[in-house]
Amino acid sequence: MDLQQRIRLMSRLASFEREEEPDFESCIFHASTPKGKVPILKLMQTTMCDKNCVYCAFRRDREETVRMALKPEEVAKGFMELYRAGKVKGLFLSSGIFGNPEFTMERMIDSAKILREKYGFRGYIHLKLMPGASLQTVEEAVRVASRVSINLETSKEERLKQIAKGKSILKDMLQKIEYVDRLIRERSDKSQITQMMVGVGEEKDREIIKAVDFLNRRFKLSRVYFSAFFPVPGTPLENRAPENPIREHRLYQIDFLIREYQFGAEDFEKILRDGNLPLDKDPKTAWAEANPHLFPVELNTADYETLIRVPGIGKKTAKELIRRRKEKRISSPIDLKGIRNLHKILRFTLLNGRSFYQPIMYS
Ligand code: SF4
Repeated sequence: MDLQQRIRLMSRLASFEREEEPDFESCIFHASTPKGKVPILKLMQTTMCDKNCVYCAFRRDREETVRMALKPEEVAKGFMELYRAGKVKGLFLSSGIFGNPEFTMERMIDSAKILREKYGFRGYIHLKLMPGASLQTVEEAVRVASRVSINLETSKEERLKQIAKGKSILKDMLQKIEYVDRLIRERSDKSQITQMMVGVGEEKDREIIKAVDFLNRRFKLSRVYFSAFFPVPGTPLENRAPENPIREHRLYQIDFLIREYQFGAEDFEKILRDGNLPLDKDPKTAWAEANPHLFPVELNTADYETLIRVPGIGKKTAKELIRRRKEKRISSPIDLKGIRNLHKILRFTLLNGRSFYQPIMYS
């Protein structure tokens, strides 16, 4: 197998084998970076792993997994071939933990160093931090990478123990997130994210929302990623039903509302049903419906913070509304020409004391 074939295989494996025979293009993902979306190659340094996380395609006991390892020079060389061909602009390097986590992490850092120092690559490199690696090695990873991440996987220590024995949120992961936070807080060229799985355990959205709220208040995270559980053949959870991707989508909306719109976990208590978010409507609309005493909002007088809590009004729209009402009192929908989500906005607002909302009637 030549290097490009091996790179391609490792990249396919890094996508957790969602597809049987993906073509080359499917190995390329679009990642959000501080400089916008970029096509990246998602690669594993090795598919060998000593751990046995119940959901994972690379778990030690899974016989079907092809076990391979790339040398740091191979990662760098293979990536540069694709980069020079214009196929990718960045690298997301993950790995199974084989032997000492420190050793695994060092090999990943070596791959990034070769890219930076030998090939002069200045673009996007995302390194997954290995649970169990030392803080000194984490610091080295932060130095060479544009972004680092450590996956919390779940919201509670006892749940993690059930699905990923040997990992610890409290003793290891949070410590690393905190340490990275200190290193990058004042840096605009570095970022950190984390990821949580959804539906792998019995966790409710309430738990996840509280964790997201805590993480966003405490640390400078670019975002919390969510991954809806899907069963991997040959793992203990192979017969479990996949999680509804809409649940993942609703949690992304929650993370956005907490991070960008100053919502807190307590705001969503009223909309939870048996601890979970409603799937049939977005959380902001559900929150507004659950708080009728706060609506309708007068568009001519509401302050910015109140406006951005109105369903359908984002930050840009709130600023535009404030600009328009300075020029002229908003009295009818004609004064809102060009404003997006108008029907939704009219449902929760008054224009000069009058409601213009007309429910859509379905025959
Ligand atoms: S440590 Fe990572 S690669 Fe290894 S089994 Fe767990 S999730 Fe999979």
